[in-house]
Amino acid sequence: MALLQDVLGAIRANRIEIVDLTAPLSASTPVLRLPEPFANTIPFQLEEISRYDERGPFWYWNNIHTGEHTGTHLDAPRHWASGQDGPDVAELPLGMLVAPAVVLDASDRVAENPDFLLQIEDVRTWEKANGALPDGGWLLYRTGWDERSGDAERFLNADDSGSHTPGVSAECARWLAEDTPIVGLGVETVGTDAGGAGGLTPPFPCHHYFLGAGKCGLTQLQNLSRLPTTGVVLVVSPLPIVGGSGSPARVLALVER
Ligand code: MN
Repeated sequence: MALLQDVLGAIRANRIEIVDLTAPLSASTPVLRLPEPFANTIPFQLEEISRYDERGPFWYWNNIHTGEHTGTHLDAPRHWASGQDGPDVAELPLGMLVAPAVVLDASDRVAENPDFLLQIEDVRTWEKANGALPDGGWLLYRTGWDERSGDAERFLNADDSGSHTPGVSAECARWLAEDTPIVGLGVETVGTDAGGAGGLTPPFPCHHYFLGAGKCGLTQLQNLSRLPTTGVVLVVSPLPIVGGSGSPARVLALVER
């Protein structure tokens, strides 16, 4: 009891700040656009049931229409062919959802090259300065891309040659997923992989390796600039959709001030 009282006291005294890493969820929230012949997800949509009217005089409520992979969301291992025997989103160990997190900031290089791919060497350099990646924790990959999240065209950044958004090289994705003790990768972009990752080997390597290793992805994060490099506690709350491949999630960070 005393431990939790200490945490609550620190939150009330603003010695622990709660930072919201979640993008607002609305009909204008950008969603992934796959090229033909692939099927696409629907945008988020509210469908009014009643609003203090003859359909329900004292109450307001909606049905929601959404994909599992809409807005800030979690990819469960079951999402990818390589992880199809792994857990669905309702089966994730809760220890993955309340866990330490660190921030790797590549926003300066992404500003120069939107197709930037993180390399093993970049993570090694980060580790020399900041220590090992957290055992059982999350790597949050800051690219500055959240600045574009209010505008779907700038956020998806597509032209005739495809989508140009940053990600992780295939070699680095394999190494992070298989050779480091993290449980997931969080990004600011529409998916954990780069816009051009369909052309990598294997295609979409973050999905392939992380989900294949029973680890998770977390997308469309915001406010990573407000986090310290290390020492963050991440709270991820996907809906427990039975059999689901993922879920929109509220993602909060606890930060000592
Ligand atoms: Mn997804």
